[in-house]
Amino acid sequence: MKVPVNEPVIADGAKKYVLDALETGWISSAGKYISLFEETFAAFIDVKHAITVTSGTSALHLALTSLNIGKGDEVILPDFTMIACLDAVLYTGATPVFVDVDPETYCIDTDQIASKITDRTKAIMPVHIYGHSADMDPILVLAEKHNLYVIEDAAEVHGGTYKGKKCGGIGTVGCFSFYGNKIITTGEGGMLVTNNKELYEKAQILRDHGMSLSKKYWHDLVGFNYRMTNMQAAIGCAQMEKVDGILKTKRNIGSMYNKFFSGHKSLILPKSDNFSKHIYWMYPVIFNLRGKDNNKIRDDIADLLKLFKIDSRPFFFPIHIMPPYYENCSLPVSEKLSLTGIVLPSYVGITNNEIKKICNIILNRISELS
Ligand SMILES: *Cc1c(COP(=O)(O)O)cnc(C)c1O
Repeated sequence: MKVPVNEPVIADGAKKYVLDALETGWISSAGKYISLFEETFAAFIDVKHAITVTSGTSALHLALTSLNIGKGDEVILPDFTMIACLDAVLYTGATPVFVDVDPETYCIDTDQIASKITDRTKAIMPVHIYGHSADMDPILVLAEKHNLYVIEDAAEVHGGTYKGKKCGGIGTVGCFSFYGNKIITTGEGGMLVTNNKELYEKAQILRDHGMSLSKKYWHDLVGFNYRMTNMQAAIGCAQMEKVDGILKTKRNIGSMYNKFFSGHKSLILPKSDNFSKHIYWMYPVIFNLRGKDNNKIRDDIADLLKLFKIDSRPFFFPIHIMPPYYENCSLPVSEKLSLTGIVLPSYVGITNNEIKKICNIILNRISELS
């Protein structure tokens, strides 16, 4: 594809730092880049503690297990999200409870959470989708009232804010991914952040086979190997030097799309709410042509873009309709988004002309169909 949806930014320092890790022999999960990456990232999110892990999925799993969530417990999460959230809950033996999403933010509909809380609920897992934060205040109020943990999935929102606070640093614990298409990447990798010291220590122990922090080879718990390598952390350190620039570029990309698409009623554009500054990790658009099959239009336009070598992605499927997670229920917003939403390129190198071209292709097609 000539215009990818996303593409990693290889920061200048990456080569130097990785080479340093290689030349000094610190290629495994000890080394200076691990602690530097953790400290830099903790400061970036404005939290006390950060722990590098192998992926966003392992960050979520480690967060859940560190909070003692397991069999018999329930975790409330949105039906519209990347599948890792659900897998992480299922790995622990806990039961996922699906909630529909807000039609404007695509994040969990906070008005629908209270009715899903039971005696077995242990945590709420809001997911900040495509770069827009979930509405955290009502979630925090419910969590306080019912004594629940809040596990933020911030894998798509590094540096995004909710009412001025960095996403991931608001709940009990925040989980990030550094997969190749995320705002910053280490190839594969993840980070768990928290202000809770006890949770931080427990997560450190569980990340490293459950080994005691003070007594080598003594295990009080059954843990995992979720350690990131120093080479990945070296890339992460270089990326952190670029993150402000990346975020600025992403916001410009979002503004350009907003400008070219503005005033077209048959498109629903991403909301940059007054509580959330959208960072446009990806640029999501919903087709909303009156009286038309918007699912077909979405798929046709994706094919049309492909002819111009422009990549795009359909929205996620609703979790509850897929075989391993199937539940016979109706979550209409999630279902509708999934059928009619497309994600447009927001790779850092995209030019204004490319954005203009994408918008023109879509707008021309829509006017033909209207
Ligand atoms: C990417 C992503 C994850 C999973 O991260 P991996 O590093 O691929 O394991 C989890 N949640 C969301 C919302 C994501 O976008």
